[in-house]
Amino acid sequence: MNISKQEIEKIVSQVLSQTLPEAGSLPLSTVSTSGDAGLFDRIEDAIDAAHSTFRQLKDYSLNDRQRYINEIKSFTQKEKHILAKMIIEETKLGNYNDKLEKLELAALTPGTEILKTSARSGDTGLAIIEEAPFGVIGATTPVTNPAETIISNAIAMIAAGNTVVFNAHPSSKGVCAYTVRRINEEILLAGGPKNIITMVKEPSMASLEQLSTNPKINILVGTGGPGLVKALLQSGKKAIGAGAGNPPVVVDETADINQAATDIIKGHSFDNNIVCILEKEVFVVNQVANQLIAAMEKEQAFLLSADKVKELLALVTAGGHTKKEWIGKDAYKYLDAIAVPYNEKPKCIICEVAFEHPFVQLELLMPILPIVRVDGFEKAVAYAVEAEHGNRHTAIVHSQSVSNITYYAKAIDTTIFVKNAPSLAGIGVNSESVVSFTIAGPTGEGITTAKDFTRARHCVIVDGFRII
Ligand code: NAD
Repeated sequence: MNISKQEIEKIVSQVLSQTLPEAGSLPLSTVSTSGDAGLFDRIEDAIDAAHSTFRQLKDYSLNDRQRYINEIKSFTQKEKHILAKMIIEETKLGNYNDKLEKLELAALTPGTEILKTSARSGDTGLAIIEEAPFGVIGATTPVTNPAETIISNAIAMIAAGNTVVFNAHPSSKGVCAYTVRRINEEILLAGGPKNIITMVKEPSMASLEQLSTNPKINILVGTGGPGLVKALLQSGKKAIGAGAGNPPVVVDETADINQAATDIIKGHSFDNNIVCILEKEVFVVNQVANQLIAAMEKEQAFLLSADKVKELLALVTAGGHTKKEWIGKDAYKYLDAIAVPYNEKPKCIICEVAFEHPFVQLELLMPILPIVRVDGFEKAVAYAVEAEHGNRHTAIVHSQSVSNITYYAKAIDTTIFVKNAPSLAGIGVNSESVVSFTIAGPTGEGITTAKDFTRARHCVIVDGFRII
């Protein structure tokens, strides 16, 4: 992004000086929506509305769908400062500048261009296979990427010709409602149907249960923690499950250590580490461990001493779980809480621990990066595989050895494998990958795109139609 630090500071201070209405109570624009622009008191009404819109959507062309997607993209660009501020005020997670980057990224989710019709032809004629919509999708969004997931899912799901009913995480319902409402308003202004995406105003476990059992919902897409994914997979409907990760980083002696440190700290500290694909623990071979840690300190990572690690552990975990109130805070706040002085506010805290340490084993979602020294590359890979807990989510390697990289990639078997770059490259940041906020490891769709929200329809023509 070509934007200077001064420009960013100017924008931040402008936005922060604005008095925004409270999240969830924002006024509608002047557009008349003869409803509440996608927002409903009862989940069954949200489902009925999305169902009725789906039937109308059949009369709209691919170009129409892309026009609606363009509206979502330009709304996101226009209102990213408002959305970022609302997300922080409501969820208290992450940091403002990275939210802007995340929202910009969400707007880059591919639309209809990713859909492809395929054909098979032979002596007995022709078959074309088209990517058709499922119908009405029931989708959940995580508190960690609330508006971003609505924007990204809406682009991909509408591109595929579906309508969507969202059950947002309750702790982000205000900004999610605002996002759903504004997207509907913009699409309506562009001549589209109302209620192309809908949401229940007060999401709850009960509304989620109704969403997963309502016959008008054709497919479920769950972006969230392991409990949620498991529940959706047991619903009896087709479900796409995008669950938790705990991405390990392996660094070997052949790596460009300075570059590795830059990339790891950049990825790990993004939005205070609340994104599922970000670096969560590092396994480094002994020969280069000191060099890596020193290089990380140059990247504004704060090295915590062993005695203070115990205090930090007691601060952020209890009974073997992370404490919710400490997820996604700025790194200096943890240091303040355990009375550790620092010169400048760090991007993250690094510490050396043993493999068994909870910082390695838990998906912390905090700017705390545990580092484990290991005797050799194979041991590092064995640890990484165990720490990933079979999530099949994301893994990262820093190495110049093709055989080491291949060995790790085969052993870890993750959906996303990033080599010599920050983890964010896995979802299209400065890379050839695609952007998505729903990484479906458990059900195998991978980095989901519009294609994953379609079903294959075959049109078979037997009496000719071929030109050879
Ligand atoms: P979560 O499982 O607590 O919530 C996700 C969804 O579950 C919510 O949108 C909501 O619909 C439902 N839900 C959960 N608790 C609920 C409640 N009390 N009442 C009603 N509904 C409820 O997950 P989270 O904390 O929002 O998100 C963080 C988790 O999601 C992390 O584990 C992260 O790794 C994972 N995640 C995965 C992906 C991916 O693409 N694989 C993306 C983002 C987040």
